[in-house]
Amino acid sequence: MSGLWCVNVGYGQQALVDAASRQMKELPFYNAFFQTSTTPAIELAELLAEVSPPQFQHVFYTSSGSEGNDTVVRMVRRYWDILGQPERKVIISRHNGYHGSTMAGASLGGMSGMHAQGGLPIPDITHIEQPHWFELGQGMSREDFGLKAARWLEEKILAVGPERVAAFIGEPVQGAGGVIVPPSTYWPEIQRICDKYGILLVSDEVICGFGRTGNWFGCETLGSKPDLMTFAKGVTSGYVPLGGVMVGERIAKALIADGGEFNHGFTYSGHPVACAVALANIRLIQQLNLVSHVKHNIGPYLAERFAELDDHPLVGETQTCGMMGAVQLVKGKGKAGSAGTPFASELEVGMLCRAHCFGNGLIMRAVGDRMIVAPPLVMTRPQVDEMMTLIKRCLDLTLDELNRKGWL
Ligand SMILES: *Cc1c(COP(=O)(O)O)cnc(C)c1O
Repeated sequence: MSGLWCVNVGYGQQALVDAASRQMKELPFYNAFFQTSTTPAIELAELLAEVSPPQFQHVFYTSSGSEGNDTVVRMVRRYWDILGQPERKVIISRHNGYHGSTMAGASLGGMSGMHAQGGLPIPDITHIEQPHWFELGQGMSREDFGLKAARWLEEKILAVGPERVAAFIGEPVQGAGGVIVPPSTYWPEIQRICDKYGILLVSDEVICGFGRTGNWFGCETLGSKPDLMTFAKGVTSGYVPLGGVMVGERIAKALIADGGEFNHGFTYSGHPVACAVALANIRLIQQLNLVSHVKHNIGPYLAERFAELDDHPLVGETQTCGMMGAVQLVKGKGKAGSAGTPFASELEVGMLCRAHCFGNGLIMRAVGDRMIVAPPLVMTRPQVDEMMTLIKRCLDLTLDELNRKGWL
């Protein structure tokens, strides 16, 4: 799992350790308020603009993905205020999306267990269903389902009232929700709908950013042109905490032209040590050609090897995107031509499978009955082979145990 979708360059990278210790000696801290900054924060801003899609020339730093998404909510609303449309406050998000654990992050997220605690979501955040073909689209082609799922956004915009909608936010590929790779038709149609109603598009790139999908950012792989991108995790490969928001020109221009202050910021925004590590991390990704490695070599290889699992009696669906993969566990596959049906959730079959994984030296995460991996981008083909041998063994052990329990 790369720790938690973080350690994209792998462990033991001395360049990142050296960057941190050098910066701690040079200048361990200064703030980024009152029109001040530090050298690493400035250099990192330049490098981020270079690797991001062309509409991004500005960055707002935070220390986490959650703070990034809180920043998104404030920035989106501030933008529409400046444009004289303060009634545009509603942000549309998706069920089973994950956007963090702060008040705004958990509200944007679509996790019912999180909403049940703390009186969430906060006002003017509303959700649509996720583009999850296996759960919601069977009987349709994936492409047709992708269009249908995107049009749920249009239905929601019309239900809320287009003049009240500020933005749509989504992960290019839902990560914590279970590595749900949307059909190829989904994001271009989402983009068309956002353009039609003039609403802002926010891509939460906390997992998909920095090469994981085979491009620098997931929106490039899945086909959207966002106004804002949230990042964290892979920006430093998790060696130290850093997050932020890439701010598109449309919004940056409005915020700057207004002349007034955007009253927002964190003590640790642009923390020099975190920025120095991010610089070393991104340069290492460039030196090792990791984005191209994922796109042309190890990502396609992972896809090829994952597809072999489709024949396993417990597997209803596999999906990969770059260095992310999911295995959907099902029962009754093949009976009367069935593609299989979900297990009762209280059986916690995913956790049962996970126990076999942990017992066999394989870290696979269970999201319900969806088993997921997100290996480091530096992985080699023999390492993928080693992982696949373990995955197959653990699926077989799970099948044996379910047989013994009579749960199949
Ligand atoms: C992890 C994650 C977040 C939250 O980031 P934190 O650093 O935990 O606050 C937000 N969005 C996505 C897509 C994530 O995976």
